[in-house]
Amino acid sequence: MPDQNILRLILGDQLNEKHSWFKTPDKKVTYVLMEIRQETDYVKHHIQKVAAFFAAMRTFADRLAELGHRVIYLRLGDANNQQTIDGNISDLIRKKKFTRFEYLLPDEYRLDIQLQDFCRTLAIPYLAADTEHFLTERHELKEFFAGKKRFLMESFYRWMRKRYNVMMDKDKPAGGQWNYDQKNRQAYDDEVPIPKALFFDNNVTDIVKTIRKKKVNTFGQIDPEKMIWPIDRIQAQALLKAFVKDGLPAFGTYQDAMTEKSWFLFHARISFALNTKLLHPMEVIEAAVNAWLRKKSKIEIQQIEGFVRQILGWREYMRGIYWALMPDMESMNYFNHNTALPDYYWTGQTQMNCLRNAIGQSLEHAYAHHIQRLMVTGNFALLAGVDPAEVDEWYLGVYIDAIQWVELPNTRAMSQFADGGLVATKPYISSAKYIHTMSDYCKTCKYNWKQRHGDAACPFNSLYWDFFARHRKRLQKNPRVAMMYRVWDRMDTAEQKATLKQAADYRKNLIHL
Ligand SMILES: Cc1cc2nc3c(=O)[nH]c(=O)nc-3n(C[C@H](O)[C@H](O)[C@H](O)COP(=O)(O)OP(=O)(O)OC[C@H]3O[C@@H](n4cnc5c(N)ncnc54)[C@H](O)[C@@H]3O)c2cc1C
Ligand code: SF4
Repeated sequence: MPDQNILRLILGDQLNEKHSWFKTPDKKVTYVLMEIRQETDYVKHHIQKVAAFFAAMRTFADRLAELGHRVIYLRLGDANNQQTIDGNISDLIRKKKFTRFEYLLPDEYRLDIQLQDFCRTLAIPYLAADTEHFLTERHELKEFFAGKKRFLMESFYRWMRKRYNVMMDKDKPAGGQWNYDQKNRQAYDDEVPIPKALFFDNNVTDIVKTIRKKKVNTFGQIDPEKMIWPIDRIQAQALLKAFVKDGLPAFGTYQDAMTEKSWFLFHARISFALNTKLLHPMEVIEAAVNAWLRKKSKIEIQQIEGFVRQILGWREYMRGIYWALMPDMESMNYFNHNTALPDYYWTGQTQMNCLRNAIGQSLEHAYAHHIQRLMVTGNFALLAGVDPAEVDEWYLGVYIDAIQWVELPNTRAMSQFADGGLVATKPYISSAKYIHTMSDYCKTCKYNWKQRHGDAACPFNSLYWDFFARHRKRLQKNPRVAMMYRVWDRMDTAEQKATLKQAADYRKNLIHL
């Protein structure tokens, strides 16, 4: 065989140093990483998200070079950067006479199709390799649920526990129960001090300067001298270690809690490290389970099970859902919602204290934890009837961990019920009562969480009942919400009228709430 000259593409979320590609340096192989407008511009991103991705990619390229690999790195401002994957790969093949092209399977449908289409145009052989990251194959979930109307996370999760022998006593779950959610629904009560956060001081000044100079359209805040997110494996492992020590012992108890006192509480903040593949999901699970095994008397089982469920269950499940429902999922809109996303999602300027907090910290840190995303921003968008395409655009842009394979099923399916209930058995909506129970936001809010109508009525209340009334045809047969229709039907007519009138007023004035 004539001398091989192989070009291998590494995408920004494929920074897996443990991948078999990198076991031994090979002179015949050159790796390429690229900062491109194609990726900065497909949606408006939070500035921290773009900066963190570029910083992690740069560090990864340096690391590969240090390990003896040949690396080409294209920066956003480089004159020879064609700003698209196809453009850069074609250019490199032509200029450097590569005889073969290889890439790692992308997690996003958009890139998967792009690379398949592009490869068909190549005159040289090509190959797509596995990323060696996930614990399931792309299409396994679809096969697991073949013939089923609903894709129940719980059955998938139990199967994963058995398959990977995680927290199992032979074929029974450790502790005798699969699920401890009932114990894991506490509001924050100051009983356990909130751990001091491990933040990194990554200097991304150069990157931010280029982003600004090149007029990449971003939003949100950043301190370029102290970008807090992990950008290499050492930092990612340190973050995981700090979480296991300080956050995990109370993770389950407070995983649904929200408070003005902290923007992350006991959450791990490892989603960026996981989604860029700096961390492997099994190493995260093992770190947590081993800590529990070592300190069984100190870490209760509900804390650890709650955490394992997120990674072994929800994360893999969402990925499977994505591949099972794409490309249709991108346009699903079960309720035909078409209201515009209120501007305060982009500015944080609203009088609703829960939204102000959840959005405010998202703009400040590119982060909100799961319940803030689901039960505050997502809940409100669904109650207000916002077009799921606009909701998606916001979630895909704002969070440090937002990559479509995980953002879309969480937003469209779980949060907005736009799939009509394949994923969630009922819409995740609530009135102010839930937010009042799970947070301290209502205490200082201009609105009154108890009121359904009247000057200070909390918008969540009337919009909640209005939602049920508007979507009666679609929802009343759902056994999980049938009870709410009975409650509504028993309410006296004057109360119903006043509630619906209040909702109509609020929907008209949505942008001013
Ligand atoms: C509307 C909406 C949009 C979301 N968009 C994203 C997204 O773009 N990217 C993303 O990674 N997560 C997303 N999530 C899931 C979840 O909110 C984040 O993974 C989590 O908040 C990340 O913070 P953490 O690392 O502190 O998580 P922890 O609460 O400490 O959990 C640990 C890990 O479990 C995994 N996990 C937990 N819940 C989920 C879930 N529902 N789906 C997938 N993984 C999960 C994450 O990898 C997370 O890092 C979304 C949730 C909702 C409701
Ligand atoms: S009163 Fe309503 S708007 Fe205000 S914080 Fe509570 S739930 Fe949110």
